[in-house]
Amino acid sequence: MGLYDKFARLANDREQFQTSGLNPFGTCIDEVYSATQGRIGNQKIVLAGTNNYLGLTFDQQAIAEGQAALAALGTGTTGSRMANGSYGSHLTLEHELAEFFDRPTAIVFSTGYTANLGVISTLAGPGSVVLIDADSHASIYDACALGGAEIIRFRHNDAKDLERRMVRLGDRAKEALIIVEGIYSMLGDVAPLAEIAELKRRYGGYLLVDEAHSFGVMGPTGRGLAEDLGVEKDVDIIMGTFSKSLASIGGFAVGNKEMDVLRYSSRPYIFTASPSPSSIASVRASLKRIAQHPELREKLWRNAHRLYHGLAKLGYELGPRISPVVPIIIGSKETGLQLWRDLIAHGVYVNLVLPPAAPAGITLLRCSVNAAHSDDEIDMIIQAFAELKK
Ligand code: PMP
Repeated sequence: MGLYDKFARLANDREQFQTSGLNPFGTCIDEVYSATQGRIGNQKIVLAGTNNYLGLTFDQQAIAEGQAALAALGTGTTGSRMANGSYGSHLTLEHELAEFFDRPTAIVFSTGYTANLGVISTLAGPGSVVLIDADSHASIYDACALGGAEIIRFRHNDAKDLERRMVRLGDRAKEALIIVEGIYSMLGDVAPLAEIAELKRRYGGYLLVDEAHSFGVMGPTGRGLAEDLGVEKDVDIIMGTFSKSLASIGGFAVGNKEMDVLRYSSRPYIFTASPSPSSIASVRASLKRIAQHPELREKLWRNAHRLYHGLAKLGYELGPRISPVVPIIIGSKETGLQLWRDLIAHGVYVNLVLPPAAPAGITLLRCSVNAAHSDDEIDMIIQAFAELKK
């Protein structure tokens, strides 16, 4: 059997996508004009399928500081955080993140993916138990596999199911690492974190919350779901990414003082190059924006409400709650692909999500709004969906 033979079906599926029209998994956005506008081929599009929740990718200050760092410090660090890849700005950003979250330690990783890999795989090795939500992001699954801990999945957002599993673990629950996300990226729903925090108080264990999609989006100061629900003291580690609200690339984890040992023990922290100085500089600017401009968050939620209500009025089946991620649940893969292409023809880009990337075997069109969308742009997205109904 050849090296690539096992991918024959996948390759065939992909080829069909390619030959029948625009390929949703090989789309090239030819130009990006702003946080909300771009071009695919000859079609100008409103970007309604990104993770740019606060619309900061074109923030003037973030661009200026990124450019200044590029000129002053060069294009890349060419080294690991542990060796020559920790510049003053990486440490300053860690200090600023720790301060923002009011925690002793923050560690910057190269991506959100490696942050999860680096924290989870190092803390949960052979002999440990991790309790993870069944709909966890791939980086959480991969991290558990890399660590070699025993993996116990509980039903998505089902605190009762988690409790049953903790009871079954007996004394081992005291050492278990419970992992959930703030906002789930596909359905826009949130973890029942108050109930989960209560379980942790009752049965023990440690709690890690991946706030990738909720950082900058939820909570009175934008710290995420744990802040929103007032349970931060029950959360041992908060993980986040620079690639969504912070509009750059990189990842982080914040926690207690002991967490610092990851710098000497976490392979995904040690064996990869650190984020470029320009990325770090723009993240620092965006973090300041988030701290100083809560109105960005307010605008984001106004847009979320506008899109959700507009699509609900048209009769589309949507996610379980209003959120900046607005999934439209579609019957079949074929219909999903057709609608996705029709939307582009109407000037709207969303994400097409097929199983297994979408949970529970469903196909969905994942729309997301950001704080930079104007009312007119949101209405244009709704109008495109209205046209498809015809
Ligand atoms: N966690 C979650 C929940 C995510 O959705 C993502 C990215 N989609 C990541 C982690 C990884 O983040 P990054 O893109 O920074 O690697």
